[in-house]
Amino acid sequence: MPYDPAPPPAKRFKPGSAFFRRDNKTEPGMLHASALLELQRKQLPIFQAKAQLSARLRQLNSAVLIGETGSGKTTQVPQYLYEAGIAKQGVIAITQPRRVAAISLASRVAEERRMQLGKLVGYTVRFEDVTSPETKLKFMTDGMLLREAIGDPLLLRYAVVVLDEAHERTMHTDVLFGVVKTAQRRRGELNKLPLKIIVMSATMDVDLFAEYFNNAPVLYLEGRQHPIQIYYTKQPQPDYLQAALVSIFQIHQEAPPSHDILVFMTGQEEIEALARTCRDIAKHLPESCSPMVVITLYASLPPAQQLRVFQPAPKGCRKVILSTNIAETSVTISGIKYVIDSGMVKAKHFNPGSGLEVLAVQRVSKAQAWQRTGRAGRENSGFCYRLYTESEFDDLAPMTVPEILRCNLASVILQLMALGIPDVMNFDFMSKPSSESIRSAVVQLELLGAVERKEEQVSLTALGKKMASFPLEPRYAKTILLSPDFSCSEEVLSIVSILSVDTVLYNPPARREEVLAVRRKFTSSEGDHVTLLGIYRAFKKVSGNKEWCRENFVNSRNMALVKEVQAQLREICLKLNLKLESCGADMGKVRRCLAHGMFVNAAELQPDGSYVALDSHQTVAIHPSSVLFQAKPAYVVFNELLSTSRCYMRELSLVDADWLLEAAPQYFSRKLRHSKI
Ligand code: ADP
Ligand code: MG
Repeated sequence: MPYDPAPPPAKRFKPGSAFFRRDNKTEPGMLHASALLELQRKQLPIFQAKAQLSARLRQLNSAVLIGETGSGKTTQVPQYLYEAGIAKQGVIAITQPRRVAAISLASRVAEERRMQLGKLVGYTVRFEDVTSPETKLKFMTDGMLLREAIGDPLLLRYAVVVLDEAHERTMHTDVLFGVVKTAQRRRGELNKLPLKIIVMSATMDVDLFAEYFNNAPVLYLEGRQHPIQIYYTKQPQPDYLQAALVSIFQIHQEAPPSHDILVFMTGQEEIEALARTCRDIAKHLPESCSPMVVITLYASLPPAQQLRVFQPAPKGCRKVILSTNIAETSVTISGIKYVIDSGMVKAKHFNPGSGLEVLAVQRVSKAQAWQRTGRAGRENSGFCYRLYTESEFDDLAPMTVPEILRCNLASVILQLMALGIPDVMNFDFMSKPSSESIRSAVVQLELLGAVERKEEQVSLTALGKKMASFPLEPRYAKTILLSPDFSCSEEVLSIVSILSVDTVLYNPPARREEVLAVRRKFTSSEGDHVTLLGIYRAFKKVSGNKEWCRENFVNSRNMALVKEVQAQLREICLKLNLKLESCGADMGKVRRCLAHGMFVNAAELQPDGSYVALDSHQTVAIHPSSVLFQAKPAYVVFNELLSTSRCYMRELSLVDADWLLEAAPQYFSRKLRHSKI
């Protein structure tokens, strides 16, 4: 099977002859919890290679480490480095593309070391820092390490940077590659403590990575992949949700209950909807069918709930996990015998020509499909049901295109400039974005006033510097910075905080009517931002009362997080000496401020009732979830575009054309329909 390319034998770590095997006579339940953890650590495939691996890693400046998901790379390598004494010279950073992975892995490693989280082992993710001066093993999102690099480009606190899940190629990971590589070189030139770089993944284009990191040696970990039987559908499936549902219950009726099922879907809403349907159907199955526990897994799920996927189902009960691509590599779940692959993933796409960035459900790459399949063969032979035909599989792209080649670069360019790298065109990218994309990002930053161009030189403005202090999209940072001019900083901070956490509202499709009735009392004709602000204010008024949250279909955890985010954004504002005041009930001020900050995302109503996004001239529509869905405001600003059957604007506010004009007169005199007449 075309799994990871077979490594040349010489580069392989040979497993020791005394291969550690599970002792079936020991009842795990009889062991003390810490002894059990110790036993689990020793059973990981990586453990056999520990001595050689530690020795090699100690010696090497840069290394690429490849090993099947679940072999123990992320949890063990940092501990091996620590045990080898490397942390005496500085902190060991382990970067993760996903926030939840950073949190759950740090918790796991702290537990393995029997230490309180935040002491020796800690984590830093956006808006949350659980570290202390004692922290030596620091799990962090790649975005956070990038932010640290702004203040300390040589990353002098760190002895090692482990770039984990490197194959994900998120925008931050890609920028971080260049930043870390530069820091390593500069530290060498300045005779500082060397920076060790370890790139890890289960699957990646090894040659590309090795070459980029100065011909770093590639170390292969022996995997434990068992044979997997793959099935394709005979016909293309127009509805993969339905196909997944049918497959789940077919397996459920045929397979022994101890065989768990992992289903790959695309996002929270779809996963929650499918979970509900599964639970409903499972209730009405004949007695002869074993019971089923359905567990969901996606990035926005609170960490405590994420950990539920690791709990085994009660005896005689089947576990069905519905997950996004997070379970491809970031999280390893034991007991999976069946994988159902929808073949779909939600991803962002940017067209620099039109300036349009959309979030869309699209086909996975072959590499992703194989990675998903591999989840079924971790502990024993397994089965993978692909909800697409074999010829559809043949047509998939071989590798996932790195995000940096398909996303809006405005925030990356702003960050690079804040890092003091003005010549972004010559930045050492592993995959260089097109000059068109870079130019389009510079134009956007120029419109926002973050950069200015003098002859061909682009430089950061004072406003741009301030914008870079916020861990936010440039347009949100700009909106906050403008808010004192409209005396509505408190409101804007609340709104941006709400938009920075995952959905604060809970929308169970089965209770649609109830939800609509409850929401009505909050609905504002001024748009979604004002509506959300109203709900947040009501939440604070009842001090986050759980019962109130349940009655009003508000996600209490995410709402509580909004408060924390807001506190941190407020702190940045105070450092920048921004005047923070509230506009009370005058929401016009808030919308005017949003119009000024987000004018690049404005749309105009057309005579035929459709909308046109002014920046790209693309036809767009109001998303059915918006409170403005039934209304036809002449002008709106929106947060993002989602492309499904149509291109939808999500989260909008009603604005005046005059506000847009005063925000960017030259730009809009070209764009607005009425100003052309
Ligand atoms: P890799 O990085 O090679 O994919 P990890 O180090 O993440 O592997 O995981 C090794 C093993 O540790 C997994 O197979 C899983 O069984 C276990 N593990 C990891 N995180 C957790 C957790 N939070 N709870 C329980 N077990 C975990
Ligand atoms: Mg890992």
